[in-house]
Amino acid sequence: MGFDIDKIRADFPILKREVYGKQLIYFDNGATTQKPQQVIDCITNYYLYKNSNVHRGVHKLSVEATTDFEESRNYIAEFINAESEKEIVFTSGTTESINLIANSFSNLLDKGDEVLISSMEHHSNFVPWQQLCENTGAKLKIVPVNDNGSLDMDFLDSLLNEKVKLLAITHISNVMGTINPIKEIIAKAHNYGIPVLVDGAQAIAHIEIDVKELDCEFYCFSSHKVYGPMGFGVLYGKSHWLNNLQPYQYGGEMISTVTIDKTTFNEIPYKFEAGTPDVPGALATVEALKYIKNIGIKNIVEYEDELLVYATQKLLEIDNMRIIGTAHHKTSVISFLVGDIHPYDIGTLLDQMGVAVRTGNHCAQPLIDNYCIPGTVRISLGIYNTKQEIDIFIEALNKTLAMLA
Ligand SMILES: *Cc1c(COP(=O)(O)O)cnc(C)c1O
Repeated sequence: MGFDIDKIRADFPILKREVYGKQLIYFDNGATTQKPQQVIDCITNYYLYKNSNVHRGVHKLSVEATTDFEESRNYIAEFINAESEKEIVFTSGTTESINLIANSFSNLLDKGDEVLISSMEHHSNFVPWQQLCENTGAKLKIVPVNDNGSLDMDFLDSLLNEKVKLLAITHISNVMGTINPIKEIIAKAHNYGIPVLVDGAQAIAHIEIDVKELDCEFYCFSSHKVYGPMGFGVLYGKSHWLNNLQPYQYGGEMISTVTIDKTTFNEIPYKFEAGTPDVPGALATVEALKYIKNIGIKNIVEYEDELLVYATQKLLEIDNMRIIGTAHHKTSVISFLVGDIHPYDIGTLLDQMGVAVRTGNHCAQPLIDNYCIPGTVRISLGIYNTKQEIDIFIEALNKTLAMLA
């Protein structure tokens, strides 16, 4: 199957929108992606025709909702090639998935233990571990990045030892687009018996994810970054790990029996899903994953790669252009600075010309500090972006730079 860009663009109603009388150019897919009509319809249909709580009622609607909800779990398990649907915990997003594990690890860590992360982590994969270490007396150790934004693998080697109780690392940097050699990293960690959590928030929309092949203990992602709805996410965990971890929230659904004296917990994954879940979120996530599967992940990789190369070339024609993150393996995310112009000024003017970019530290302040820069302008491209849009963006950027000169 080919890559029919016109058909894809037609599926995303918001792309017809104008801002300040200009056609919207949406280059902020790293923050959240837009939703195709199929996903929007799925959510609407749920509330129009299906709404009911799951796992509780004997009535028709509840039984149907439960079946649909559990089928979503099966689909998502298959999509990332998990061994079993029991390994798929539904959460509100990557942030909650990571916090769940950090919380459940609190009684596994002692003073003198270590937790390893990298300096390119999103705050979501940074702060929970920092807090966990503060609360347990464990030490947080950080793998630095090289100048080009790739991970310093020699430094990683030097930090691996038996004291490390967990390695938490991003698959793809949300600031630089760097694709970490995650399989190799996991294998290295396993040599020391270290479990690995992968933050896949940026990876899920751009590359194929196979948790069995990666052999990670945990994998996290958010639906809204892969053309699905906000407020829904996934935590994949190997079943023996999930079986042995403490639940992190208590309430309905996650229990097996409750008496005044004692509560026993439900089996996985329900043990980690307290309260009423986001049922339409699960259904719409499946719709989004089907959408990209239908286009073909390989086609997406190829197309976005083309956009990345084109945009990089065009940007580098601009004087005093500095791209932060030039690793060999990267996705369609480009962070840049021009001379000593503040990123915020560029972002504001681009916005007025209809181009939505992100500016600032991108929730990765330690990384930005590492480069001693005030932040960056970031464009992050998705399946519906085009070379024509890049041309318009470059023209707008040149105008912007002339105004700020
Ligand atoms: C967006 C993002 C997160 C946080 O995801 P939420 O959906 O906000 O929970 C974590 N890590 C990376 C790399 C991200 O890009």
